[in-house]
Amino acid sequence: MNIAVLALQGAFAEHRAMLERLGAQTFEIRQASDWQKPKDGLVIPGGESTVIIKLLHELGLFAEIKESIERGLPLFGTCAGLISVAKRVENSAGEPERFGGPEIFYPGLATMNICACRNAYGRQLGSFYTEAPMLISSQEHILPMTFIRAPYIKEVGEGVKVLATVDGKIVAAQQGNQLVTAFHPELNHDTTIHQHFLNLCRQ
Ligand code: GLN
Repeated sequence: MNIAVLALQGAFAEHRAMLERLGAQTFEIRQASDWQKPKDGLVIPGGESTVIIKLLHELGLFAEIKESIERGLPLFGTCAGLISVAKRVENSAGEPERFGGPEIFYPGLATMNICACRNAYGRQLGSFYTEAPMLISSQEHILPMTFIRAPYIKEVGEGVKVLATVDGKIVAAQQGNQLVTAFHPELNHDTTIHQHFLNLCRQ
């Protein structure tokens, strides 16, 4: 099992460490040539979605990554990674979020049928820790959840299964082999979610 971890910015090292603890091999995607290596899945980590999306375009990674996910490459997106794959992204006022500057508009990967609300909890409330149930292969697990200036999922479309909610807000979902969490499982010791992702990569 060889998992590509997008390493342009953000919390990629923690994902690599956790996947390697579970016996997977990992490598970093930093430039277009890295994408040519064989891989069984892709992690898009937390960080700043505006930066990640802009760099995907500028480094020439955007089209190939989008196509690979659409063709079925398993994907695990956390926090900014969730925002990067959402079909629609809104700000906390409910307006559509635009990535890029006033002149250049960078679309997100838009591979997952969800509407994400960015920085949804406000600056302070976006960072908190809780433990809540999450459905993993139809079984409920109480898992640690660390939120850092987190988004939540405002709406899910067809084909998307809600896996976890916190205070009535959707914080984890799955569509086929695309898995997203608004929180950072790589920052806690529990490996359940990473193991679930590796199981998706094995199918
Ligand atoms: N607020 C960040 C964003 O909008 C996400 C934060 C995170 O990934 N921890 O991209």
